[in-house]
Amino acid sequence: MKNEYEKYNIKKVINASGKMTILGGSKVSEDVYEQMSFGAQHFFEIKDLLDKTGSYLASLMNVESAYIVNSASGGIAQSVAACITLKNQCSPLDLYCLENKKREVVICKGHNVDYGTPIELTIGLGGGHVVEAGYANACTIDHIQSKITENTVALIYVKSHHCVQKGMPDVSSFIDLAHKNHLPVIVDAAAEEDLLAYYQLGADVVIYSGTKALEGPTSGLLIGKKSFIDHVKKQSQGIGRVMKVGKENILGLTYAIEKYLSHQHMSLQQQTQRFEKFNQQLNQVKGVQARCVQDSAGREIIRSEISFDEKQLHMNASVIAKKLKEGPVCIYTRDYLSNVGKLEIDIRDVDDHELKMIYDKLMNIIGGQNNE
Ligand SMILES: *Cc1c(COP(=O)(O)O)cnc(C)c1O
Repeated sequence: MKNEYEKYNIKKVINASGKMTILGGSKVSEDVYEQMSFGAQHFFEIKDLLDKTGSYLASLMNVESAYIVNSASGGIAQSVAACITLKNQCSPLDLYCLENKKREVVICKGHNVDYGTPIELTIGLGGGHVVEAGYANACTIDHIQSKITENTVALIYVKSHHCVQKGMPDVSSFIDLAHKNHLPVIVDAAAEEDLLAYYQLGADVVIYSGTKALEGPTSGLLIGKKSFIDHVKKQSQGIGRVMKVGKENILGLTYAIEKYLSHQHMSLQQQTQRFEKFNQQLNQVKGVQARCVQDSAGREIIRSEISFDEKQLHMNASVIAKKLKEGPVCIYTRDYLSNVGKLEIDIRDVDDHELKMIYDKLMNIIGGQNNE
């Protein structure tokens, strides 16, 4: 019998780039999939399902409130919407009403990123107007304070490798400033691994993507203060409808989070070990250098950073990355640094056989010595 790749003539993908939405986020494990299948094959009162899975997760994490949504983006939009309806004291149905003038969301300029979609657009979907504070590489607490007006409804902090990392205020002073101004703080921690840090610092809501570190199905998680999350829930009768989460994904994510919290994660050393042979082999190839590096945003992720010497190889890293994606099996590497001659290999979703395939294809492309 043909599988779906063959039936629809879909390209096969080896994902060495990390948790990328364009490749489907993450692969769920067998037991998460079983929960999804139970969800798909039964009925629930959705509000009850969302409330109960939320309180189950909240008690697991010992936080005031948790709530599952369709994606981190959906969580951002609905959180912004909640801030606007709160401040203007309007119904979720009047979110976009022009009479409700208070809709400014202050963000550090270096945080106003494109994560596949400009965050500005996501905030706009929630009815918010972005107001940037500071400069691309420098934003102080004073810069932020100077942007707060009577029309400000919230401050948003983006914790991400996409952001400018230097010159930005730390989360803690950012939250303190917001609260001093009696404003809520939304933290976009979509791809972060720490589920508690920002909540514990006092953020009103912290938003995670279900398909990134949590390795769940397409979904999002909100953790925050009960009073705030209760307001976000009201959006389900408003813009929440166009971003509803399926019952299968609610159960899938709940289980994925429970597993994530109880699971021993691979240590940095164990991750480094997985690259040992791969890097060794690459380092025997002329014009190629491979080494282990930790994630640039400080997450507990080790990747292999491969530098390609364009002069020796007569080919630059961007061309190599492009060629890796050609053919019946496309290999996606992490290409953020290809402009400076580097590709990164993220092995969280790559098995040993696939790692060997990456090596072989690389050798094929650069015409290096294949030692095996
Ligand atoms: C991935 C990401 C998002 C969006 O997550 P989705 O679940 O795909 O909507 C938002 N913000 C940042 C910083 C991200 O990295």
